[in-house]
Amino acid sequence: MIISMKLHSTKEEIEQVCERIRDFGYKIHAIEGEERVVIAAVGIGDTTVCLEAVEAMPQVEKAVRISAPYKFVSKEYRTERTRIRVDDCEIGGDEFIVMAGPCSVESEKQIMQAAEGVARAGAKLLRGGAFKPRTSPYDFQGLGVEALRILSRVRRETGLPIVSEVLSTDDVEIVAEHVDMLQVGARNMQNFALLRRLGLLRKPVLLKRSPAATVREWLLAAEYLLAGGNNQVVLCERGIRSYDPDLRNTLDLAGMALARQLSHLPVIADPSHATGRRDLIPAMCRAALAAGADGLIVEVHPDPANAISDGKQSLDFPSFAHMMETMRN
Ligand code: PEP
Ligand code: MN
Repeated sequence: MIISMKLHSTKEEIEQVCERIRDFGYKIHAIEGEERVVIAAVGIGDTTVCLEAVEAMPQVEKAVRISAPYKFVSKEYRTERTRIRVDDCEIGGDEFIVMAGPCSVESEKQIMQAAEGVARAGAKLLRGGAFKPRTSPYDFQGLGVEALRILSRVRRETGLPIVSEVLSTDDVEIVAEHVDMLQVGARNMQNFALLRRLGLLRKPVLLKRSPAATVREWLLAAEYLLAGGNNQVVLCERGIRSYDPDLRNTLDLAGMALARQLSHLPVIADPSHATGRRDLIPAMCRAALAAGADGLIVEVHPDPANAISDGKQSLDFPSFAHMMETMRN
């Protein structure tokens, strides 16, 4: 159940409503909002009777039954689709938004070139990893804070908003200071401490699906963010683990469409990590668009053959520009 209080309810009024809900055997799990408080009540009780009783209280604006385990993320909570504003661009609105850039920030020159190249072809956000989650501890781990400073300069010069991954709770503050949207990588989808910390932030978060997570687990991970009060969440399908060694992962378009059907949040696709191969990326981009995605995040590098990470799945500028062109037709 989700109970919305009337605007500017007092602490006492909120507590009275919480008490009434608890009387019916429910637990109060989240209270969000500055002006309007919204209460999530979870448990097993007589929902119909509780709903009626709570809705009759004068301080309550609305009470709705939500059967899904994720409450704030659910379509039942918000019937209209959520639009997430990142600087000048809106994700989940009428425009199909493409974010692009290299896997890692390698140098100021490389990321500046990448920014210009992707913007020219129509990308609206620049991606670039500063903190890299690598399978091997011996692989390049990213330039860290130095990369964040470089990204800030690139943003100032090009005006492109930046999306970059945050790996640890310790880095949330510094990453949030330098980027417009914080990415939670696939490996951290169920890092609940990180999700709780990002729930306190009032900045957009791009939540990638873990390669082994069900759609329900993915939406419950998003619930951590919304329950903490951060409503600015974009979901990203980036491929799930499969058995074919010729493919890095499998782009789960049905899972992506299902997530979009079950929730009001925007959902984008990452064909780069989903396939691991640049030759398949244009087809997967068009497939994601056809399946209802709100946008894409694509790895593009000025010189893919010499990229420090994920070169094999990175597009060069001409192929990215061509792909963008085919998406418009
Ligand atoms: C990335 O975006 O470069 C990345 C590491 O993605 P994922 O978390 O989906 O593997
Ligand atoms: Mn990558």
